[in-house]
Amino acid sequence: MDLSLSRVHFPVTTLGPGRRLGIWFQGCSIRCPGCISADTWGPGQRRLSTAQLLDQITPWLDVADGITISGGEPFDQFDALIRLLQGLRRLSQVDILVYSGYSLEHLDDQLRQANGLIDALISDPYDEALSQTMALRGSDNQRLNLLTPLGRARLGDFERLLMTTDKALDLMFDETGSVWMAGIPRRGDLLRLRDLLQDQGHQLQISAHASRRR
Ligand code: SF4
Repeated sequence: MDLSLSRVHFPVTTLGPGRRLGIWFQGCSIRCPGCISADTWGPGQRRLSTAQLLDQITPWLDVADGITISGGEPFDQFDALIRLLQGLRRLSQVDILVYSGYSLEHLDDQLRQANGLIDALISDPYDEALSQTMALRGSDNQRLNLLTPLGRARLGDFERLLMTTDKALDLMFDETGSVWMAGIPRRGDLLRLRDLLQDQGHQLQISAHASRRR
């Protein structure tokens, strides 16, 4: 089963507890206004089988405290998502958090099929008109759904307001020397960073339909 992948990174420290393995799917049909992950909307060029991806990430599974799957929209590649989740469960005991722009109600059938493979789900589309006061979320309509006992134990503490001590962004470097950011920036953070870098003669490209990343 092939999937279209945006990127993989370890460690990610901004999308759930501990040092996590982050997996970003490529492709999103939801296209929320204000999404800062517009680079993940298209179909992408990097296709690989779930078996290849699992091989690639196996060394990190021994040391990761948790796994976060985001995108893009993971549920737009549902068969590949299920296959990946099954492989992750086989190889690891850690919690799995998935982000989706679909509502919990919309995912009813898929979650039944996933049957305990997802410990926690952040659901619902990003809404730039709403405030951003909750941990792990880009806008306050998004819900943290704790789906298993492991999810409740590991992520139950995140059903709370954002705190000033919460980290917002991880920086990661890819093989081409580009710097990527993972996490959930506060409103306006990236525009402020862009202006700061421009003042110092550097360039920052923001792949935003307006502004946000998860
Ligand atoms: S916020 Fe998520 S669901 Fe919404 S357009 Fe961006 S990637 Fe898609």
